[in-house]
Amino acid sequence: MYRGTSTSAGIGIGKAAVIKEEELVIRQDKVADAEAEVQRFRDALGKTVEQTEVLAADLAAKVGEKEAEIMQGHLMLLMDPMLTGEIENTIKGEAVCGEYAIETVCNNYAAVFASMDDELMQQRATDMKDIKTRMQQVLQGIHPVDIASLPAGSVIVAKDLTPSMTAGINPANVSGIVTELGGKTSHSAILARALEIPAVVAVSGVLDSIEDGADIVLDGDAGIVIVNPSGIEKSEYEGKRQKFLKEKKELESYIGRPTITKDGIHVELVANIGKPEDVEKVLQYDGEGVGLFRTEFLFMDRTSMPTEEEQFEAYKKAASALKGKPLIIRTLDIGGDKEIPYMGLVKDENPFLGYRAIRLCLDRKDDIYRPQLRALLRASAFGNIKIMIPMVTCIDEIREAKALIEEIKKELDGENTAYNKEIQVGIMVETAAASLMADVFAKEVDFFSIGTNDLTQYTMSVDRGNDKIAYLYSTFNPAVLRSIRYIIRCGREAGIMVGMCGEAASDPMMIPLLLAFGLNEFSMSASAILRARKMITGFSMEELKAVADEAMSFATAKEVEEYMREFIK
Ligand code: PEP
Ligand code: MG
Repeated sequence: MYRGTSTSAGIGIGKAAVIKEEELVIRQDKVADAEAEVQRFRDALGKTVEQTEVLAADLAAKVGEKEAEIMQGHLMLLMDPMLTGEIENTIKGEAVCGEYAIETVCNNYAAVFASMDDELMQQRATDMKDIKTRMQQVLQGIHPVDIASLPAGSVIVAKDLTPSMTAGINPANVSGIVTELGGKTSHSAILARALEIPAVVAVSGVLDSIEDGADIVLDGDAGIVIVNPSGIEKSEYEGKRQKFLKEKKELESYIGRPTITKDGIHVELVANIGKPEDVEKVLQYDGEGVGLFRTEFLFMDRTSMPTEEEQFEAYKKAASALKGKPLIIRTLDIGGDKEIPYMGLVKDENPFLGYRAIRLCLDRKDDIYRPQLRALLRASAFGNIKIMIPMVTCIDEIREAKALIEEIKKELDGENTAYNKEIQVGIMVETAAASLMADVFAKEVDFFSIGTNDLTQYTMSVDRGNDKIAYLYSTFNPAVLRSIRYIIRCGREAGIMVGMCGEAASDPMMIPLLLAFGLNEFSMSASAILRARKMITGFSMEELKAVADEAMSFATAKEVEEYMREFIK
């Protein structure tokens, strides 16, 4: 049995399709005619670009525009004159073959990306290796593995699932994905989730130990992979798979139903999205709107800032698709650990406490914040858009942001450009300071959305990505629970909507407590909505108030968790 990182829910059962690219042999061969070799490289580059364009179109059709952007990113790398110029100079300067020049130049770039302490940059290293291999394959006449023709019931086992490989996946034939590399935010994970294929990533050593054609079962929730399972194991997992599919099917009966507790309290179930195309899934799972659109995804995987026009189109597309349902768009939450190379940010010593989100936006109004706010306001003429500001710590920040919004509104009036004059402006409550000042903030903004991912980190002083101290990172810690309860109380007393868009909003053990505290809106991944609706409609508030009182009487996270686990049983 292997353990890895769970990335895409569900049980996968099938035969291993071990993807090992046909061996490329790269030697430092000398060439007599460097000019001719440069031409050979240019021809291969041209072919690789053509192939990549086809893959991008495939991906756009099968998965979505955002995923196709990954291939657009590859195209940009392939057409980067710095990269290709360096390869050509290496061929000429060292009189070496194209394959070798590509190898050294791309490896250098990949090493720089990989050494950066940032998952996104490390992903860039994978992209660089992906294009390197494809250029070399073209040079050597090697045809890449044709994932599109895998038979039904295949479980892909690969080192890493590169975007170009993923483009070919036919979800009807692929029952699971196992990779040696990757993390929760790697492209393979994002794509597996988009395709709803169960996946486990970061499973070390599988590529050499799993034989092609071996029987595999994998649990995408638990992060478990079993090779050649016994008859008992196989039927156990087949049972789990049937249960997962049955539950998924049964949950469909909750489509079109209101989210109301037994005693008539209505709450909103909305979704978190990262791109306009995600709205399709929100509607499929009957989400009542979008509680968090993480706009930073529009800024990633590209080499320059999206223009006001590009952003306007993206926000308008999401708003129009939602047909009047609320769409809360969060302004750029970037900086510190989430760097974007073209923004020229200096790495902070203490990224989570650093120059990021609203701090950065207010400091770079002209090139970042103003275009984004203009795009948001213009798009507000096409749907029910609300603006949400992340990482707020003091009142001055929200006042300054609101003043800027008012200034832009006047500008738009002057241009006769339509926008929603009553547009709501709210904040993410995700810092300890904002929580402690929630009563004051509640008078300044139109809504709250509690970001428990960060609120837990800042309340417990525990880096949300550090494994060694992960035991402290619990939203069930009484300190975090008190903070959540206080934020909800302040918002309710001021008569504003209080939502939650952190992961806790879909946690079955947390939902009863949040209901009892009076949370109005729960925002989660679209595929979690129906399960939450089923749960909420089964509770009565009276019962939950007593449960919450009991839960809040404990002194440790462990006690609260045990109590809630027992309760939801
Ligand atoms: C949060 O902090 O809870 C949140 C929803 O935002 P992010 O995970 O993007 O920081
Ligand atoms: Mg956050």
